[in-house]
Amino acid sequence: MKRAATRLAVSLAISVVVVACASMQGGGRDHVSRAVQAQGGADALAKVKTISEKATVRQWEPEQSAVAGGEMRFANESSVVSATDIAARATRSDWVRNYQYPAPRSFTYSEVVTAEAGYVAGIDSNGRTKQSQESNPPAHTMSGVRLAATQRELLRVSPLLALEMSRNPDRVSSAPDVTVSGVTYPAVDYRVATQTLTVMFDPATGLPARVRTLDYDNVWGDVTYDVVLGEWQVVEGVRVATSRKYELNGRTVMETKLTEVKINETIAPERLQVPGPYLTGAPKPATDRVPYQWIIRRQFIGVYLDSDVPSYDARGSAGLRLVQLGPGVQHVVGGSHNSLIVEMKDYLVVFDAPISDWQSNWTLSAAHAKYLKKPVKYLVLTHHHMDHTGGIRAYAADGATIVTGKGTVEHWKRVLAAPYTRNPDLSSQDLSRTPIVEVADKWMATDGQRQVEAYVIAPNPHAEGLMIGYVVDQRLAFVTDIWTPGPPLPDKLNPALAALVAGVKKAGIQPAKFAGGHGSTADYAPLAALEGK
Ligand SMILES: [Zn+2]
Repeated sequence: MKRAATRLAVSLAISVVVVACASMQGGGRDHVSRAVQAQGGADALAKVKTISEKATVRQWEPEQSAVAGGEMRFANESSVVSATDIAARATRSDWVRNYQYPAPRSFTYSEVVTAEAGYVAGIDSNGRTKQSQESNPPAHTMSGVRLAATQRELLRVSPLLALEMSRNPDRVSSAPDVTVSGVTYPAVDYRVATQTLTVMFDPATGLPARVRTLDYDNVWGDVTYDVVLGEWQVVEGVRVATSRKYELNGRTVMETKLTEVKINETIAPERLQVPGPYLTGAPKPATDRVPYQWIIRRQFIGVYLDSDVPSYDARGSAGLRLVQLGPGVQHVVGGSHNSLIVEMKDYLVVFDAPISDWQSNWTLSAAHAKYLKKPVKYLVLTHHHMDHTGGIRAYAADGATIVTGKGTVEHWKRVLAAPYTRNPDLSSQDLSRTPIVEVADKWMATDGQRQVEAYVIAPNPHAEGLMIGYVVDQRLAFVTDIWTPGPPLPDKLNPALAALVAGVKKAGIQPAKFAGGHGSTADYAPLAALEGK
């Protein structure tokens, strides 16, 4: 009896090993077959020619918070009606986006994405390209990076993903199980273009449960980006996930609820075509250096600049350049986000590290060329938002001390300790010992001739710990996001401008001009004169 029990246990163990081996030999393909079955079977899935969906979408942005490391900003509540023709490999998405951040506004636009090109009809961003501004009605061709990112995100949630994987077994390989929140999922990797999707399966049902990519985030470095699929419904014999939650490093940043799914509804072919003028010369999907998180999340808040060079409009601007604002003072302009370089006797001070380490590398090499390799001793961050700090690592790697406002030091310590092996612009090194200076209200650097200062503007409605910079001998200040110097002033102070005027007064400084983290430069007197109006 005992022997029989042992023999059974051994044979069970062997069969487990055999199953495991089969799974290894199959390269995880048995998980894919099971998913295809669970979704209705290969025949039912193969009959899907078109998919039409209506959905509501809510998005949150973690790195535009009021407090560094604090609660995410609720960005927008949107609706989207989409239509996909499987054979044409084309999807049209008609969006109505209602933003709450950075300012309440709505954008109504359509995206058409094919295998070869992408097109946007209407205005989809405050950061418009030259082509969008010059087109009547407004429209533009998608950049190759946006096209690649949009294609990846459409595939991630495609009800036909498992079928596609089953038809491309050479691109499927087994992956280690992944445990998320105590649940262990069997997983496979699916290589498509230059991306790998890790598809995790529900151990009970066999359905795809999560689809993960390993992305680079300009603040947090290496991150996971998952869609969590749920609330499966059967449509025309096919199981479709009607709930899609997106998690960035485990935090939900997007929720999509499908309110209607139709299969094989007729879609007029012209709705899925990129119009001729926008197809000519349209960039192909980018295969390299696609800043997925930047592209996806700048759209969350409606400020994405649709360009193959994320720092500036590659087809409408000559690129970044230095503009001298005074002796030894250079404004880095030409893109959507600016820095200020200030020369001291033996070193440089730089204000803000926008967007990416690509932009930082540009600024560092321009600064080193101009100022005979003087080191950047201080990088002063006006505030913690991702678009003005995403290039912090290049400065840290170059030996700069980070100067940052009150309440943000713990955030920057964690950020600089985070691994960033997927950063396309900077090789990985340990930045965790980067010196960080916290500014309670005032910071200064002096060399006996020139004094550079930074002042915390408190309170202000934009970000806790926000600072302005000041070059005393030039009476030149630097401001980001609470004022954009250059465009016409409003008739009255808004809360952000009022905070700036009050902050300047409190600092006891007498700026003649401001240079901006956005915009250009402007005299301060007309702004100060708005007080009391
Ligand atoms: Zn900001």
